[in-house]
Amino acid sequence: MKNAQEMKAGNRLKVLRLLRRESLSRAELAERTGLTRAAMSLIVGKLLTEGMVEEAPRRKSAAGRRPVPVELRPEYAYTLGLTISRTGSDAGVADFRGRLLCREAIEIAGLTRQEALRRMKACLCGLMRRCAPPSRRWLGLGISTPGPVDVAAGTILNPPNFEIWHNACLAAEMKDLGVGYVFLENNAQALTMAEKTFGAGRASRSFVLLEVEAGIGSGIVSNDRLYAGWRGFGNEIGHTSIDMNGPRCDCGLPGCVEMYAAVPRVLAQARKRDPRIRSWRALMDRAAGGDAFCLELVKEQARALGTALVNVINVLELDAVVLTGDVLERGEMLRAEVERFLNQHAINRWLRQVPVLLSPLGERPELMAAAGIPAEKFFEGLCQAVRVRPDRPKRKRLESKG
Ligand SMILES: [Zn+2]
Repeated sequence: MKNAQEMKAGNRLKVLRLLRRESLSRAELAERTGLTRAAMSLIVGKLLTEGMVEEAPRRKSAAGRRPVPVELRPEYAYTLGLTISRTGSDAGVADFRGRLLCREAIEIAGLTRQEALRRMKACLCGLMRRCAPPSRRWLGLGISTPGPVDVAAGTILNPPNFEIWHNACLAAEMKDLGVGYVFLENNAQALTMAEKTFGAGRASRSFVLLEVEAGIGSGIVSNDRLYAGWRGFGNEIGHTSIDMNGPRCDCGLPGCVEMYAAVPRVLAQARKRDPRIRSWRALMDRAAGGDAFCLELVKEQARALGTALVNVINVLELDAVVLTGDVLERGEMLRAEVERFLNQHAINRWLRQVPVLLSPLGERPELMAAAGIPAEKFFEGLCQAVRVRPDRPKRKRLESKG
């Protein structure tokens, strides 16, 4: 049995997590949490005093006065986000509701690791100064990179084609920014959290996200919680096999789904027939135009993805699948094919259909997802807001180096 203090803190976080997704009145909050209205008034009153939430304008209604909705106060605290990919880096600041307030591209191509780090830190320092919250409170810095990463240590391990960052402990490197907590996640995991809060995962308690691009990244939310594994090596659906006699993947396993369904693999098949098919978009245009060969390639890709997804759904009984990444462009055909396949093969098909959804987060959601990492930890009660003094001398020093 938890003690009273823990229960109080738990209820407060429950309220904040609900408000992170939508604005709700005190009565609605009481109903959703199962707490009494009196208890909810106390919790909301305290959150109002602390400046974490605010009252929104009343919603219009034909039937008399409606209760006042409560929502997160954007200025309460900000987060910093940083993405590092194989093609570049982006940094930005998000408010307490997770909206990006500013973003800046960081040119790092051709730089050494130390030079790239200096440039990133200079950019982040500049953002912290120009885009500081009035409260000076920060929830921390969230960094997303290709995996595998060691999330506990904050270290990038050995992602392919990412040699410059191998074994870089970014959590330690970024400590002297003075922004408080620094978290590192692989980008698919960060995107999964963003889908859960702001995107296609909002309506479901358990879902799997597949990011289909040059590789296949993935993340799983089970009963409203991101499945984290032990040190970030879980969730590698791209490296689950769909053919034990298949071609050997870089990871050593034969027949990984990535070998069949990653975008470059599909395009390589398409080019055997017509070398002019250079992009995903071109392939989809052909398929949509009725080209039987291209259509068959999309169906084959859907069967490969669908087989891996059925394996996962049969183990975890998930409610939904979210597709994201390069395949979002003209993604409807692939979405429909994957959905058809898995609802013809998953064990639970007699009881329910599992929808396959395209991410609604728009182009380039990675930065929003990275900035969301510290927020996710905050709303789980795993970190606190830190007040950053405006006169930190370190910041000047770092910026002049860049
Ligand atoms: Zn593999």
